[in-house]
Amino acid sequence: DVAPPLPAFTRILTVSNQKGGVGKTTTTVNLAAALARLGARVLVIDLDPQGNASTALGIDHHEGVPGIYDVLIGDAKLSDVIQASPEQGDIFCAPSNINLAGAEIELVDAERREFVLRAAIHTLLTDSSAPFHYVFIDCPPSLGLLTLNAFVAAREVLIPIQCEYYALEGLSQLLKTIERVSANTNPNLRVSTILLTMFDARTRLANEVADDVRTHFPELVLSSVIPRAVRVSEAPSYGQTVVSYDPTSVGAISYIEAAVEIAQRGAVDAQQGAQ
Ligand code: ADP
Ligand code: MG
Repeated sequence: DVAPPLPAFTRILTVSNQKGGVGKTTTTVNLAAALARLGARVLVIDLDPQGNASTALGIDHHEGVPGIYDVLIGDAKLSDVIQASPEQGDIFCAPSNINLAGAEIELVDAERREFVLRAAIHTLLTDSSAPFHYVFIDCPPSLGLLTLNAFVAAREVLIPIQCEYYALEGLSQLLKTIERVSANTNPNLRVSTILLTMFDARTRLANEVADDVRTHFPELVLSSVIPRAVRVSEAPSYGQTVVSYDPTSVGAISYIEAAVEIAQRGAVDAQQGAQ
């Protein structure tokens, strides 16, 4: 039961790691903001019932505002729920709120339940007059049905790894899930990017974790590293990414560098004729 192809022009990245608090949401919104500043048209799909990506992008997502939940249960089209973010550039968000938590259960009996998000993205990208260059999907901290929908809908997985705890622990489960999805349903899915987050150069552990991850995945790890920085954690309370909250801060600059690297890698892939 292989998924139908999506337009090749758009890069669809799911930001996943079943550990909570590793920087998934922070990475999603800041890479999206940085790429939008660089001229890309970007969509962020908030697939976490906590709605942190919606908050960080300054998007209204209180209960009653149509969001990704309504799309997944078939009550709305993706194009109906997308809002423009006040961030600089062409950046849009399909918001979520706590009612999305119900979708995991409500979708259990749905036909082709792990294809719902892919179908919604397919409709959006084929109907849209203005194309999106990037779609980022911010996943919840689990490997449940929402994350599965993200894996089926995406071409690339971006894994943020926090340089503090035993980062590689749990990674094999994540990689196994991705392998299973790519073998059974979405052959184009691959882990394209690993980003080291919350790096504190002063601690030995952080350096050891970073070396360890680079040794295991030399091709995947971006050379840009995101340092632990107070401005990064302050920005969401102003409904902003750090890229717009404090564009010259070290956190903002690191995310912009990471975004440039991701864009450049994509250009190389396209030249080599990769899918
Ligand atoms: P996840 O989405 O994986 O649960 P978050 O992106 O929400 O993780 O990050 C967890 C917490 O760590 C948040 O409070 C966030 O503001 C903070 N945080 C993320 N990245 C950084 C960073 N580079 N420096 C400081 N704090 C950070
Ligand atoms: Mg999150």
